[in-house]
Amino acid sequence: MARLLEGKALAEKIKSGLRLEVAGLKAARGAELVLASIEIGRNASAQMYTNAQKKTAESLGIEYRLHTVDKNISDRELEDFIAGLNADASVNGIIVQMPVPAHLDAGKISALIAVNKDVEGVHPSNMGGLLFGREKIIPCTAAAVMELIKETQVELAGKDVVIVGHSEIVGKPLCLLLLNRLATVSVCHIATSQAGKLRDYVGRAEVLIVAVGKAELIPGEWIKEGAVVIDVGINKAGDKTVGDIAFAQAQMRASWITPVPGGVGPLTVTMLMRNLVEAVKLGAESVRAPLK
Ligand code: NAP
Repeated sequence: MARLLEGKALAEKIKSGLRLEVAGLKAARGAELVLASIEIGRNASAQMYTNAQKKTAESLGIEYRLHTVDKNISDRELEDFIAGLNADASVNGIIVQMPVPAHLDAGKISALIAVNKDVEGVHPSNMGGLLFGREKIIPCTAAAVMELIKETQVELAGKDVVIVGHSEIVGKPLCLLLLNRLATVSVCHIATSQAGKLRDYVGRAEVLIVAVGKAELIPGEWIKEGAVVIDVGINKAGDKTVGDIAFAQAQMRASWITPVPGGVGPLTVTMLMRNLVEAVKLGAESVRAPLK
């Protein structure tokens, strides 16, 4: 029977360290730490995230500034809005709430945010850093998964790690982070399923990470005995929230498993705040650099 990898407890531990760091940075700089959040149009699910972000930020002493812009905002207007926040010295980090309306290009928006304010780690330069093993600002969900794996104390070097899902914010950055730790990484996606090979890959995983968004896509009996299992998926099944893995059966085979809800989710927003603190520290380093 697997041990539970609970994100909530780990998030509390990390937050108590962050609270001290935030207080120290504020005292040293004589200024607030400010996270600017851009919500394009109002929608209920984005509001759930912004409420959670605001609550976590404020609990750490970080000011959360929510900017809601019109859902029909043009490319150009959004570019100018972000440029304004980039230039605003009182703003330390910027997050654009996803998904954005269809007329806007999420990839292009990520590149508009100043690298040193990109607290989601989605700017091409921060993403590129992962490729070269320079991990500074890491995409929040991928960072949360890495923290959970660290908690198990499993040595990643030489392990067969299988990721299901290759999105820009989860699967792809995780692939690089795990390669940087010498894991042997396989990344599966829709074509793996269509080729009828998903079960084979899942069955060989010593560490399995699933980020697809399809309720209980992975049956528990596919899981290798003793595997570490991280379920990133969040799906509604009637009035319940379930992951991408059939939890009850998987728990019988795994050594560690994340619950859904309560696994990756509570850590992700904490990673956003950790990135903000990191961005402030990196900014201070780059200002100091010429003096060395
Ligand atoms: P996404 O961008 O939609 O990516 C889903 C991935 O799954 C794609 O790479 C897709 O491949 C792959 N896929 C779809 N059907 C598949 C199948 N039958 N077999 C294998 N692969 C399949 O989603 P995301 O943003 O990465 O999010 C994934 C899930 O994680 C969602 O449930 C989301 O709510 C959740 N999530 C949770 C957190 C958290 O904090 N806990 C954070 C972010 C996301 P193709 O692109 O090739 O179709």
